[in-house]
Amino acid sequence: MEVRGVLMGIGPWVLARGLDPFKRGLLMRGVSKTCLNALRRRNLGGMSLSTLCLECGLCCDGTLFLHVGISAAERERLVSLGIAVGTRRKHDVMWLPCGKLEGKCCTMYDARPGGCRRFVCALGQRLERKEVTLDEARAQVADMHARLGALREVLPPAEGEPVLRHARACIDSTTTPVSEVQLAAFKRVEALRYDVFMPPPQ
Ligand code: SF4
Ligand code: SF4
Repeated sequence: MEVRGVLMGIGPWVLARGLDPFKRGLLMRGVSKTCLNALRRRNLGGMSLSTLCLECGLCCDGTLFLHVGISAAERERLVSLGIAVGTRRKHDVMWLPCGKLEGKCCTMYDARPGGCRRFVCALGQRLERKEVTLDEARAQVADMHARLGALREVLPPAEGEPVLRHARACIDSTTTPVSEVQLAAFKRVEALRYDVFMPPPQ
C-alpha cells in the first residue's frame, strides 16, 4: 500500500500524536504529511507568513496570476520534474495553477523557482510589517476563498479550471451572456484581489 494510503487509513489524529501543538494543529486541519515535512525543513513553524500561506495558496493556484517567470536553467529543471512550462511574451514561464501545489501547500518548497521565492503578496507584506495581525490576515484570506466559492457556485461547472479564469472565459464568451449575479460575484473577487493581494507596481 502506498504511503499516502497508509497515512489516510491511520487517520491524522494518530499521526498528530507526539507533535508540538502548532504542527498537530496543522495536521488536524488537513495539512498533509508532505507539507508538514516541508515545514519542518523550513523551521518556520512559528512564522506568521508561512502560517498564512498554508491557508491561502492564491499565488500558486491561478487566482492571482496565470504564470510565474522562470530562467532558462529553471525551465530545464522544471521540465524534468514534469511541471508545465511555456513562453509568454518571449519569456520562459511556469504555468499556474502549479502542479506542485498540494491543497494550499508547495510540495517543492526547497526547490521552488526564484520567482516564487521572491514573491510576497501585498497582504503578506503588510503582515511582515506588522500592519495587520495574523488573525486579520487570515480573515482576508478566508474572505477571498469564500468569494471564490460563491463565484464558482454561480458559474457553469468547469472541472479543474481555476474559477477566476473560468469566469473570465464566461465573460469573454460571445455565445452565452453572463448574468448580473455572475458579474457581481466576479467583481467581488476582483475587488479583493486588487485591494488586498496584488502588490503595488514596482
Ligand atoms: S497570496 Fe500571499 S498569503 Fe497567499 S500564499 Fe501567496 S504570498 Fe502567501
Ligand atoms: S513551485 Fe511552489 S511556490 Fe512556486 S508556484 Fe508552485 S506551489 Fe507555488
